[in-house]
Amino acid sequence: MDDATRKELKAWLEFYQELGIEGFYRREPGTVVTPPSLEAARSTVAPSPKPAAPARVAVPPVPTRVATAPAPPKSVAPATSPPLVIRPPAPSFSLFEAAPAPKAGPETLEQIRQDLGNCRRCKLAPTRKTIVFGEGNPHAELVFIGEGPGADEDEQGLPFVGRAGKLLNRMMQTVGLKREDVYICNIVKCRPPGNRTPEKDEVDACSPFLYRQIEAIKPRLICCLGAPAVRTVLGIKEGITKIRGQFYDFGSTKALATVHPAYVLRNPREEKILREDFEKIRDFLKGA
Ligand code: URA
Repeated sequence: MDDATRKELKAWLEFYQELGIEGFYRREPGTVVTPPSLEAARSTVAPSPKPAAPARVAVPPVPTRVATAPAPPKSVAPATSPPLVIRPPAPSFSLFEAAPAPKAGPETLEQIRQDLGNCRRCKLAPTRKTIVFGEGNPHAELVFIGEGPGADEDEQGLPFVGRAGKLLNRMMQTVGLKREDVYICNIVKCRPPGNRTPEKDEVDACSPFLYRQIEAIKPRLICCLGAPAVRTVLGIKEGITKIRGQFYDFGSTKALATVHPAYVLRNPREEKILREDFEKIRDFLKGA
């Protein structure tokens, strides 16, 4: 490793230490990674609209433990402007190899998918059938984020294709949204056994990819479906029925929290609240 690389690496380590991130792991060799520049990472107070994305370099991979627990954002509904949610980018180059040189242009979903590879970063890998990366318009104005793939999704490799997905489709239809116009993904990309809630270590391993997807898509609005998505993305631990229907800041993007369609399947009388929130989505996207 040359001196310049060593210096850059040291600066990265110090940066992550400042954020309280200390555990680093090596990935298996051969993964293509796309690290952000240090300067871009240091200026995440408002994630820069078009950070200089670095070169894709095949390196023996990497540290992937990332702290993703910002202070809870405030609702935007009440008058004053709330603080931005700050999220450090995932460290995604090898600590044991040269840091790659920056490349021009933002990351694409294809590049992120390629970096994810045949992921074995968490304990969901051995029991999943398929990685459910996400589906939809790479330039969507709206991104839905669910909890994690269920049995149907695991089988087909697509998000929200089971009963909850049918309800999601129906809700979109009622407000004039088309599934092919939005992007749909989850906080974890592999099915938790028995459809249990994803555990913290699984979310920690997977969510950097979600944030990179959001950064690549740059939607106007994110819709968090259910408490685990709200907790992960917005850092809000309050009950979903209390905080649903409100808009939050997620960097320069807005985020709406609502109940998970599976909750409505279990409590059909609650369909009206999901519908109400979808009407808010429609109004937001119309610029109302
Ligand atoms: N529930 C989710 O949270 N995500 C899916 O993809 C399907 C069901």
